[in-house]
Amino acid sequence: MTVRSRSYNPRVLQKLLQSFPEKEFESLVATRRDLHRHPELGFEETRTAGIVAGRLAGLGWSPRTGVGRTGVTADPPAGPGAQAPRILLRADMDALPLTEATGAPYASEAPGKMHACGHDGHVAVGLALANRLSLTRSAGRFRFLFQPAEEGAGGAEACAADGVLENVTAAFGLHLWNQLPVGKIGINRGELLAAVDEFAIEVEGRGGHGASPHETADPIVAAARIIEALQSVVSREISPLDSAVVTVGSIHGGTAFNIIPSSVRMTGTARSFTDETGRALPEKVARVVRGTAEAAGVQARLDYRRVNRATVNDRAMADFVIATARELFGEDNVDTETRTLGGEDMSVFLSRVPGCFFFVGSAPAGGHRPHHSPDFDIDERALALATLLFEAVALKAADRL
Ligand SMILES: [Zn+2]
Ligand SMILES: [Zn+2]
Repeated sequence: MTVRSRSYNPRVLQKLLQSFPEKEFESLVATRRDLHRHPELGFEETRTAGIVAGRLAGLGWSPRTGVGRTGVTADPPAGPGAQAPRILLRADMDALPLTEATGAPYASEAPGKMHACGHDGHVAVGLALANRLSLTRSAGRFRFLFQPAEEGAGGAEACAADGVLENVTAAFGLHLWNQLPVGKIGINRGELLAAVDEFAIEVEGRGGHGASPHETADPIVAAARIIEALQSVVSREISPLDSAVVTVGSIHGGTAFNIIPSSVRMTGTARSFTDETGRALPEKVARVVRGTAEAAGVQARLDYRRVNRATVNDRAMADFVIATARELFGEDNVDTETRTLGGEDMSVFLSRVPGCFFFVGSAPAGGHRPHHSPDFDIDERALALATLLFEAVALKAADRL
């Protein structure tokens, strides 16, 4: 992480917020809270999509539903420039399989589902943006995408396969970000988010009595050695100048204190930034798993899946987003070296057309509210700031591209 946490200039923040119409802010918050109460998991966003399509149609855009299964795109109101190459403005819509524990008055009403990443806010911001842009002379240049299933299920890929990028020359998107305070913007001229891999390891041994380990092939000891050995993939095999992570996130095996089980299952994730490291990781993990299992006298099966590529901003696009953010938020409030080993399927679009993805600080005052946790919440003032920045970026892009 290279996120610097210098405190923001409260006067800049206050001025920006005062410039934002109160009614519009109320509408942003109301939309976000309604979606927050009714979270929908990836490829199940039908209620959300219905609300989005209804609002867009009301603004004169032509929404198309069922894009990439449950997504919505909207092309501009017909008129001059409607055939010009488009700039894609993307907001993701899905929630996470998690039970909310915030106790907020607008908390999730669906047990086991929660907007714990802020995508409810992205939808609200996207709709506010559509409202603002529909009133501009550049409206004909944009295409909105309200994308389903960002959280690992392949929503962006499904949308791309459905032709969302046809006639598109650039793509922009943002993420509300709790690792930055409200009033701060995080961005990078290159790699912003990591490539994400997912793996599962099934260790097959031979079970038996806990008092007679010599008559068994103990998968628990083998699993422990595999976990231990995987730590050296990053520390000994990846250049210290590059960044990567290998994490084993779950381990399940055994039923009782005195039984050696016959198998153990583990799952984990690997993260990387560069293509070279990303390509090398699967084989490195496989070799460690294979070799360690063999030494322990057990069998191990590895399932390795590359989920997302790294999210890499186009340098020229990032430069002008940085300039726009600095104009709005002030030099000190724009961190141009933000990088995280989290992943994003915005990478699908940014690997095909130039563009830029950026973070808008949304951490609520006091309290630890990390993304993907049951305590997640945002400072809703970030919704207004995100709308202002996204609007400025979109208009500037329309003038330049
Ligand atoms: Zn997320
Ligand atoms: Zn997210």
